[in-house]
Amino acid sequence: AQNTPEDDKLKKSMERVAHKILVLSGKGGVGKSTVAVNLAVALALEGKRVGLLDVDFHGPSIPKLLALEDRKPEVVGDAMLPVSMDYGMKVMSLGFLLNRKDDAVIWRGPMKYGAIKQLLTDVHWGDLDYLVIDFPPGTGDEPLSVAQLIPDADGAVVVTTPQDVSTIDVSKSVTFCRHLKIPVLGIVENMSGLICPHCSKLIELFKQGGGEEMAKRMDVPFLGRIPIDPKIVQSSDEGRPFIFHHKDTEAAAAFRQVVQPL
Ligand code: ADP
Repeated sequence: AQNTPEDDKLKKSMERVAHKILVLSGKGGVGKSTVAVNLAVALALEGKRVGLLDVDFHGPSIPKLLALEDRKPEVVGDAMLPVSMDYGMKVMSLGFLLNRKDDAVIWRGPMKYGAIKQLLTDVHWGDLDYLVIDFPPGTGDEPLSVAQLIPDADGAVVVTTPQDVSTIDVSKSVTFCRHLKIPVLGIVENMSGLICPHCSKLIELFKQGGGEEMAKRMDVPFLGRIPIDPKIVQSSDEGRPFIFHHKDTEAAAAFRQVVQPL
């Protein structure tokens, strides 16, 4: 098929991004956006030039997680500039483009697809080492059409929880990637054990090692476990990236470990 001018624009813009990393999950609520934010900040703290793109229609939560709700991307000609923030990070979210919080939910498929395509083609990221993309949850039409818009993704990080490891959600995400020829960079087991708010020791809540076992069985890397830490919830509510404000915690160390192979 002939490339449209839009396709060429998208290709050009994405050529300036060295690594495109998709953050996926089999379903909502497993901490996908939390992981995406903390991985992006972890990379930025290593001195990398990082963009964070939020295309989760089910509640684009990145602006809230980073206290950027009052910001808007600047429009220059027919291009949009992502919102610049601390750590040299650049952020673009569907949330910036919606007037009301629940706008996205009522959009129909083609509108969603059009909005995401526009986000990808019209946003000028400049040169980036990493673009971390917070995907819509699941393996349905939405993540599928977004994935098809991103040329040459480096791969996907699949976020799960210990409870969901036993369900077919993870394997669905891995199959989704294989179908699209997107390498699986690895599985992250989030909410794995609980950090006691009193003594900061790790309390094992569920059977351990499920994510690792699942990774082995599906022949994909295991990137690590992130414990439940009440400070993560608190940081999210305050819009302050956990990994920056609580550097000395076990969970922050876990996030730093996850980005090592990326
Ligand atoms: P998703 O993007 O998968 O829907 P979110 O990232 O929005 O999930 O996380 C859902 C909720 O769980 C949020 O309130 C978030 O603060 C919390 N959360 C995520 N990961 C952790 C964790 N490791 N410890 C404590 N709370 C967490």
